[in-house]
Amino acid sequence: MINSHPVCTVKRRKVANVFAGEPWIYPNAVVSTDAEHGLMQVVTEDQQCIGYADINTQAPIRARLLWRGTDWPGDEAFIEERLLAAIERRLRLGYTFQACGIRVVNGEGDDCSGLVVDAFGTSLVIDVYSRGMRDRLPVIEAFFRERLPHMHIYTRCGEDAARREGIDPIDPVEGTAVFCEQAVRYEITFGAGQKTGFYLDQRDNRRLVAQWARGRTVLDLFSYHGAFALSALANGAESALAVDSSSKALEVAMANATANGLELETCCGDVFDIFDDLVSLGPFDMVICDPPKLAPGKRDRNKALKAYRHLIDRSLKATDDQGLLLVASCSHAIDHEDLRTILKQQAKSQGCLLDVIAITGHPSDHPWPVGFTTGRYLSAIIVEKRGT
Ligand code: SAH
Repeated sequence: MINSHPVCTVKRRKVANVFAGEPWIYPNAVVSTDAEHGLMQVVTEDQQCIGYADINTQAPIRARLLWRGTDWPGDEAFIEERLLAAIERRLRLGYTFQACGIRVVNGEGDDCSGLVVDAFGTSLVIDVYSRGMRDRLPVIEAFFRERLPHMHIYTRCGEDAARREGIDPIDPVEGTAVFCEQAVRYEITFGAGQKTGFYLDQRDNRRLVAQWARGRTVLDLFSYHGAFALSALANGAESALAVDSSSKALEVAMANATANGLELETCCGDVFDIFDDLVSLGPFDMVICDPPKLAPGKRDRNKALKAYRHLIDRSLKATDDQGLLLVASCSHAIDHEDLRTILKQQAKSQGCLLDVIAITGHPSDHPWPVGFTTGRYLSAIIVEKRGT
């Protein structure tokens, strides 16, 4: 085999999932690498070329497969092809780049492990979470500057990802974005915000909340910028209370509420500590419970299940008869079936009945490879409560 790239050799029997569509290779599958990090050709011990991957021997994900087959097109051609394909796919799916917030590149789902790009109106946030994509950042930035010259481009590399990959984080320069969702006009600031500045993955769920909000009293737990609460208020909710432990997030929520002429109530605190007080303010006609990632890995599963049992117990107590409860998990290790099981158990112990109204996840601009279930990280379930 003629090869000008360094090589990463892997054990065939440990990469069956990779042949089935998974783009990640773990340390136990790697036999050797020609260098500590960089783009490498990935071959099995019996010399079958799987493709090309970003290798990082310091990271728990040793290899992120970017290209299947023998002919690596070169770094610039690779990025250009992938980014164009990601944009074209969004256009095919009916997304527009004008006023709303959309995910333009979704990491592994767009064959770009380590890269997420979100667009908010005229702002574009490039978020890198692998060493390879961080090294490629100038090429990625140049691509977007050339193709989308009217957009303001922000780049970031979050602290957790940087630590995992052994690279320096990048704090985005301060900047603002203006965009619309569910009849709410948002102005958000990058720099101090979480993720790329807004949780686009809950967009479809906010649409459902907006659809069912009329006349309801709403409790939005773990609200961040209060996007669920604001979607509800802008679509006829009687009242909405947004609860988050981040006072900064709630300040943004309040500023957006005021700018939209909406009357939002906020409460800053740890939901786990103040939940009983919140229950006593109810019951509410609609409760949204969207905690942060409670199970980053499989070993956190039991702790996370316990936390969900607590959250769902209290959320149900806070939900009125005929009220709706939306519970979400953004941990791959806690899925719809886990949430359904806990809902069933808690309903039984509280003596109420629950009907499933919707089972949802992230929207179509967050695609994931069918062989890579880790990519399906958001599970949400909406139930309606009935008395016995
Ligand atoms: N529902 C939001 C996204 C929620 S992200 C949306 O649609 O945009 C999770 C949020 O939970 C973050 O804003 C974080 O600040 C908050 N958070 C984390 N732990 C918390 C806790 N113990 N109590 C209250 N809020 C918490």
